[in-house]
Amino acid sequence: MPLKPRRKTGMPQQPPKQRAKTFEEVNEGYTEARAMFEASRCLECQIAACEEGCPVRVPIKGFLKCVSEGRFQDAYDLIKSANPLPAICGRVCPQESQCEKLCHMATRFHPVGIGHLERFVADWERQHRSKTPVAAKKLTGPRVAIVGAGPSGLTAAGELARLGYHVTIFEALHEPGGVLRYGIPEFRLPKAVLDDEIQQLQQAGVEIICNVIIGKTITLEQLTKEMAFKAIFIGTGAGLPRFLGIPGENLNGVYSANEFLTRINLMKAYQFPNAHTPLKVGEKVAVVGAGNTAMDAARSALRMGAKEVRIVYRRSETEMSAREEEYHHAQEEGVIFQWLTNPIRVVGNDEGWVTGLECQPQKLGPPDESGRARPVSSGEPPVVIPIDTLVVAIGTRPNRLLTKGGELATTSWGGLVVSESTGETSRSGIFAGGDAVTGAATVILAAGAGQRAAAAIHQKLSASGNGQAVKKTSGHA
Ligand SMILES: Cc1cc2nc3c(=O)[nH]c(=O)nc-3n(C[C@H](O)[C@H](O)[C@H](O)COP(=O)(O)OP(=O)(O)OC[C@H]3O[C@@H](n4cnc5c(N)ncnc54)[C@H](O)[C@@H]3O)c2cc1C
Ligand code: SF4
Repeated sequence: MPLKPRRKTGMPQQPPKQRAKTFEEVNEGYTEARAMFEASRCLECQIAACEEGCPVRVPIKGFLKCVSEGRFQDAYDLIKSANPLPAICGRVCPQESQCEKLCHMATRFHPVGIGHLERFVADWERQHRSKTPVAAKKLTGPRVAIVGAGPSGLTAAGELARLGYHVTIFEALHEPGGVLRYGIPEFRLPKAVLDDEIQQLQQAGVEIICNVIIGKTITLEQLTKEMAFKAIFIGTGAGLPRFLGIPGENLNGVYSANEFLTRINLMKAYQFPNAHTPLKVGEKVAVVGAGNTAMDAARSALRMGAKEVRIVYRRSETEMSAREEEYHHAQEEGVIFQWLTNPIRVVGNDEGWVTGLECQPQKLGPPDESGRARPVSSGEPPVVIPIDTLVVAIGTRPNRLLTKGGELATTSWGGLVVSESTGETSRSGIFAGGDAVTGAATVILAAGAGQRAAAAIHQKLSASGNGQAVKKTSGHA
């Protein structure tokens, strides 16, 4: 291995004490010099293992070469040929279990900082793009409806618009973005970055109509029969929270992570009274779960003024699913981690407010069906943790609004059943992808599913004579 700096170039960031009080972005981004230095650590391997680890096969080796030579626009064009949301994925992808995990540098040293560099390139492009206002394109091709404006829907829409289709996204909430808007906090993903991606789609001709719940305001039937949509993509996510199912869970002061984060991010509770929605966050907060959602809820609770925030998780550190960086940042900011602790009852006072969380200490047993060590009671007596706010972040599943009629085949847990290669559901002409199909997963998997479905929609409509023979679909879809 040629001599290269062993350590990943550090990401400048706000100091933990300062940032734990503000919603401003934690990571400040690489400078041009840092980015070129970090990219030059790449070994330019003959077989770029990193690319195997990327769900949408970004040409990583090529873009790193461009960055190392200061050719940032070329790097952007290469990334964008495979990933429609680089500024977002550079910030939130779990690189440590994807591209960076397979990087050859990681066998002995630190992997190349592929995620940090993807973010740098996307931010560079945004800052250097021409500021001359561009009129939105008018698309006149066959109409395609997209249900849900999360990463899967936005990506499918962008790809179809590029092919010339007249694309309309219907979004239930009052702003587009899905989890990127209502779930992931500003301190990890500034809304200006998301707004820029959405604005680019609108300039490409994508129409976005908010405050429309498909299955309620308009039915799928109406979309195809009355509104002349030739195909539909469903990207409705998995926004229905799971609860613990333990006594006391309906006490005041108990939130699902979904509600807690939506009030903060979408409704801007942290700007109250300048924003309309307040959020009562007590002094002692427990968050149950140890995924990205739990970390976001815990770190947001700190920023909302809580004095003591703890993650309560029935398994151990080894089994948690949060991104490495989120866990590390949460630790630095002072979040307490209480492993092997299983909540069994929420304790309340006479006024109906939560005052504690009763938990049974656990130990790890043999692996369960997920392959992770199963937590079992340690036999020690239960303990009560004094709290005044509880946030439950133990996962979500798809809403059944569009599937309860039974016309679309679903799995036992409510996920849409689709063809793996095309994303087509059990109803011809209706496609789906993202969390609505896989259950809670990742942004890049959702975006990849949107790309694949867009290519399949184009193929199907072209074969039926309804297609828009404008351009080839993205080579990496
Ligand atoms: C708090 C949190 C943090 C996360 N952190 C990360 C992370 O760091 N990295 C990562 O890779 N992944 C992360 N994820 C997961 C990731 O955000 C999701 O996998 C991804 O957003 C799924 O995209 P999607 O398009 O399938 O659905 P969503 O993002 O859920 O979007 C679905 C959209 O459809 C809309 N909708 C639903 N039903 C209807 C309807 N009937 N009519 C119209 N619109 C409808 C919803 O309002 C929503 O806007 C996180 C998730 C959460 C909740
Ligand atoms: S595996 Fe690592 S070192 Fe090799 S090409 Fe990819 S980023 Fe460069």
